[in-house]
Amino acid sequence: MNLDLLLPDADLEPADRDFAGRIRAFAASALAPHARTCDEQRTFRRAMVHELAAAGILGGPLPKDAGGGGWTPLQLALAHEELGAVCGNARGFCAVQTGLVAQCLHRYGTAAQRSRWLQPLLHGTAIGCFALTEPEAGSDVASLRTHAMADGPGRYAVRGSKWWITNGGIADVMILFATLDPSQGRAGLTAFLVETDRQGLQRTPMPGIELGHRGSDHAVMTFDGFPVLADEMLGQPGKGFGVAMGGLAAGRLSVAAGAVGVHRAALTAALQFTGERRQFGQPLAAQQMVQERLADHCTSLHASRGLVHRCARRRAAGSETAADLAMAKLYATEAAARAAEDAVQLHGARGYSSAFPVERLWRDIQALRIYEGTTLIQKTIVARALLGS
Ligand SMILES: Cc1cc2nc3c(=O)[nH]c(=O)nc-3n(C[C@H](O)[C@H](O)[C@H](O)COP(=O)(O)OP(=O)(O)OC[C@H]3O[C@@H](n4cnc5c(N)ncnc54)[C@H](O)[C@@H]3O)c2cc1C
Repeated sequence: MNLDLLLPDADLEPADRDFAGRIRAFAASALAPHARTCDEQRTFRRAMVHELAAAGILGGPLPKDAGGGGWTPLQLALAHEELGAVCGNARGFCAVQTGLVAQCLHRYGTAAQRSRWLQPLLHGTAIGCFALTEPEAGSDVASLRTHAMADGPGRYAVRGSKWWITNGGIADVMILFATLDPSQGRAGLTAFLVETDRQGLQRTPMPGIELGHRGSDHAVMTFDGFPVLADEMLGQPGKGFGVAMGGLAAGRLSVAAGAVGVHRAALTAALQFTGERRQFGQPLAAQQMVQERLADHCTSLHASRGLVHRCARRRAAGSETAADLAMAKLYATEAAARAAEDAVQLHGARGYSSAFPVERLWRDIQALRIYEGTTLIQKTIVARALLGS
């Protein structure tokens, strides 16, 4: 059994191979022992935040002069593959805390905003969330209704509701998207960077039980006269749509890389299991129909990683496009979902139990096909680029 064939290592320069190896070792020692329990108990493990910070992972993608680790885009992709292979909650946490909140703050924030929040976010002493989605505004971000209404000079009172907000119940600081004028559509949309500890905000867990990412915090955030100041805008008034799209587009690389990790973990489990489990007098992996499944998922794993690394190289060269990212996210998440589906099937009844890792991979991967732009939305982005519309 050649599990090395599933790793990115053979295609990497020595420094990047060492880098991936370090994150892999961290994930195996710090995250793997808790991944199943956090999922089964539906608990967010706070110690994980400090472990990620201490390992330099929370700050990794930010430039060194901003107190970050100065990772290249390829290193970001490698790190998210390793985290995604072991714990979707940890990878999702990093994607929100660093990928959405800290990177948007670094890109769009004032010096005062950066000096107040950037280091606490990178060191894990503050938790951030990205409050965009509403019950009536998902893919159609510009239709959001949360209203920041003028409430005296330089002040606004926010009313409205957000949901599905990762870290929403535990965040100390949020990027809150609201409209200054609901009649203006996307031209009214404005981002605020604001602490959560104020009157006028109620936070409750999402109703129901999530299919996956059960060790993450997902909240409903209800704003009723929540005060924000003009000074707390992140970027210019009316430019929040650009902040949201900029953050989400950049984040798609980590989601796609995380999907490569899930894909690799599912195929690894399927290979190991079918190599050991004997039926009809031989290991399952000796059956040609089983081999066909394994070979397909190995091929699509490398195709996904190729698309992700292509985006990373283009990002490093400053030539990345929305369509590149959309193709990588679309392909990698869908291929990983197919690999996880077959991994469950190849485990037979064992695949149906949390005693084996594949059902969690199958549940977790569904969210990656939805957040930061659904699969169908990625297709609209690719089609727009193709048609020049
Ligand atoms: C685990 C998890 C974590 C999340 N974390 C966050 C977070 O931290 N912050 C945040 O703001 N949000 C978060 N979300 C919300 C997520 O971003 C939205 O669910 C997503 O944008 C889709 O919106 P929706 O659920 O309203 O679906 P809808 O937009 O209602 O879409 C429903 C279906 O219609 C399709 N569809 C919609 N429009 C089109 C179109 N134009 N063409 C073709 N098909 C279309 C979609 O592809 C989808 O299949 C999270 C979601 C999950 C599941």
